[in-house]
Amino acid sequence: MTFEEAQRLCNIAFSPQSGEPQLCFRGRIARARHIIAITRDADKRNNLELGIEMLRKMQGEAARAATSAASLWASTNLDRDSNEVYPPTCQCEGCQIAELQTQAADALAKAGQHFHNLIVPPTDTNPIQPLLLDPKQEAKSLEETKAWIAALREYEAAKNALGEHIDWASIYGGKKYIE
Ligand SMILES: [Zn+2]
Repeated sequence: MTFEEAQRLCNIAFSPQSGEPQLCFRGRIARARHIIAITRDADKRNNLELGIEMLRKMQGEAARAATSAASLWASTNLDRDSNEVYPPTCQCEGCQIAELQTQAADALAKAGQHFHNLIVPPTDTNPIQPLLLDPKQEAKSLEETKAWIAALREYEAAKNALGEHIDWASIYGGKKYIE
């Protein structure tokens, strides 16, 4: 395995490829997800979902070829840094979208955890007295509420940066209880 060949395979897997705009696999998938989030056209959404599935397969194959070429090259060039064949972390337009999507997903997961802490009682205590209603746990309850709201703000900021609408009703359980 030559350095050039390993590097070529790594670039295919992890760097922007031809097209307009030039995006890597990760970036193309992130951009497609973003378009799904903002479009009202159901056919377009379905086509993009199919496109994402195809891109994921291609991404997986390219990544497998790249990493096996890279480790093969590294195994015969022990005096070199094994990371040398990999391109620098991609900064394409799609990867910037991917970063924001990750921030939004992480913030939402964090919000869910704090909300869970508030309303689901610990297993060894009164099953009908969640933290939220426990008078002895007022400080802890307030702390969890603040952390929950802070996580939702983080989520909101990431979605705003993406320019994606937030369906708050779906965040709060997917159902409107009061019309
Ligand atoms: Zn990228």
